[in-house]
Amino acid sequence: MDRALLERQLSELPLVQYEFFKTEELVFSDRVRMVCESDCPQYGKSWACPPGVGTVEECRARCLSYPNALLLVTMTEVADIADIDETLATREPHEEITREVNALFRAQGVETYVLSTESCAVCEKCAYPDGPCRCPEKMFPCVESHGIVILETGERFGLPFQAGGNIVTWFSLILYR
Ligand code: SF4
Repeated sequence: MDRALLERQLSELPLVQYEFFKTEELVFSDRVRMVCESDCPQYGKSWACPPGVGTVEECRARCLSYPNALLLVTMTEVADIADIDETLATREPHEEITREVNALFRAQGVETYVLSTESCAVCEKCAYPDGPCRCPEKMFPCVESHGIVILETGERFGLPFQAGGNIVTWFSLILYR
């Protein structure tokens, strides 16, 4: 992979931070999965979420089969971060950037496995659990669905999870081989 080319391309995108690291440095925990189960309304409603993504151990094995990782971070200022609609509206531009970066990897012939934000919103109604995912190439499970403790990774890189004010922070992981 031509990393210098990729980094030039990344520098042209509205990312506040990106970090290359080894996938084996990610921390996985069943506790993250328990939060999905107890707190997330999308649990059991999408192929992009648990339990459709498999057990944490299966997710971990899938992730580790892609030894390299790139963390992407975007930040957007909104008028009022307590306004859920306004805050969630910043998600799609982040997803678009994630798709763009994924395409840059693919253009170099690199295989990727992408984890991004929240639940998949490609279809109006997810095919889960009656049929297979309709667009597995476009579907990015959320980072937490795989039991990844992203706070741990983020803190290592000084990631601004709590930027404060009305700043919305989103992050994605592109695992690759
Ligand atoms: S692409 Fe469609 S079927 Fe697949 S996970 Fe997303 S919403 Fe569900």
